[in-house]
Amino acid sequence: MVDFSLSPEQELFRTQIIEFARRKLNCGILERDREGTLDREGWKACAEMGLLGLPVPETYGGLGLDCVSSMLAMEALGYGAEDQGLAFAINTQLWTCEVPILHFGTADQKDRYLPRLVTGEIAGGHATTEPGSGSDAFAMQTKAVEKDGSWIINGSKTFITNAPFADVLIVFASTGEQKRGFSGGITAFLVDTTTRGVTIGPPQKKLGLRTSPTAEVFLEDVEVPASAMLGRKGGGAAIFTSEMEWERSCLFACHLGAMERQLEQCVKYAQDRVQFGQPIGKFQSVSNRIADMKMRIEVGRQILLKVAWLKDQDRRAGLESAIAKLYVSESYVQSSLDAVAIHGGYGFTEEYGVERMLRDSVGSVLYSGTSDIQRNIIARWLGL
Ligand SMILES: Cc1cc2nc3c(=O)[nH]c(=O)nc-3n(C[C@H](O)[C@H](O)[C@H](O)COP(=O)(O)OP(=O)(O)OC[C@H]3O[C@@H](n4cnc5c(N)ncnc54)[C@H](O)[C@@H]3O)c2cc1C
Repeated sequence: MVDFSLSPEQELFRTQIIEFARRKLNCGILERDREGTLDREGWKACAEMGLLGLPVPETYGGLGLDCVSSMLAMEALGYGAEDQGLAFAINTQLWTCEVPILHFGTADQKDRYLPRLVTGEIAGGHATTEPGSGSDAFAMQTKAVEKDGSWIINGSKTFITNAPFADVLIVFASTGEQKRGFSGGITAFLVDTTTRGVTIGPPQKKLGLRTSPTAEVFLEDVEVPASAMLGRKGGGAAIFTSEMEWERSCLFACHLGAMERQLEQCVKYAQDRVQFGQPIGKFQSVSNRIADMKMRIEVGRQILLKVAWLKDQDRRAGLESAIAKLYVSESYVQSSLDAVAIHGGYGFTEEYGVERMLRDSVGSVLYSGTSDIQRNIIARWLGL
């Protein structure tokens, strides 16, 4: 049986998150975007609201939600919060730091990190990308070598979301001379950023998502104990693949929420703005754009829900999450271009926020694997 209705709890939480985001997260977004600063107060407020612990069990201070409910919560956050950089930073911590610790961590690692990540006392991220390896992530040069029961890590990472304020990063490093990437050559480590040898570069200047700080991370003879290994030696690819499936549903649900807010804004603008003696929404060129925006949201939500449902059945969602990521990210960019077009010259100014949404949307076709890489994944699933 297919049931598209939300439970009363999901409906209530959605309403609460939207009200919360409008009340606590939207003030000062123009200034933060110009200055490229994270809303630390907003981050704390999100933690108090439970958003930093959506899928984390109550024993670690989280809400213990399933993937569908977490996804719906993220959609609500994206809809209510105009600060998409803050929402992005929160998503990064949730799906690429907390969820891997939850699924692959030892009892000690979970006890050590999860409760503090959930309350916002500490912040986290993940570090895979390097200057020489982005899409080809597992061609990474960062190496971890075993020495007297510890691991010594050397290398550098780039575009690391949350790095400027993170306390812990999941660092992926090569540990197998013989084995390459996916076939057991990569291992994940929990690296505290205060560890000797870890240097975080200055925040990288970006086109969009400016309120989400990003930086390079340099690792020079960073010594971590064997207990810092996340999962097993050579198990990095499994961790990376698993976290990407979560991110490709829940983060992109947040983008879908932003697209809903954008659509409502465009409908209102098309009703209010008069040219040639009538609202511009009466011109089919304008209303067709709006119809397409609505269609993208509805189609995107169905595929995202399918990914979340598969995750809740403990089933793999490699193909579906690639399709969802590709579809929602490309839709987000196209709808953001449409929103600017509908607003005409005003869309090109800061006044309506649609130019910021366009800038914010562009990153979505790059992170979590570019659109080309998603197409490659889909083609591989089809036997090509
Ligand atoms: C806002 C933002 C936040 C990020 N946060 C993080 C983070 O927290 N942690 C982290 O580890 N990384 C992060 N990244 C990095 C991101 O994962 C990489 O940018 C992405 O994987 C692409 O790698 P690249 O930039 O090196 O591009 P490249 O891999 O050099 O790609 C350049 C172009 O070549 C194309 N291309 C490459 N290989 C193929 C192929 N096989 N087939 C077809 N086309 C191909 C790409 O699609 C792209 O168009 C972030 C990036 C952004 C923009």
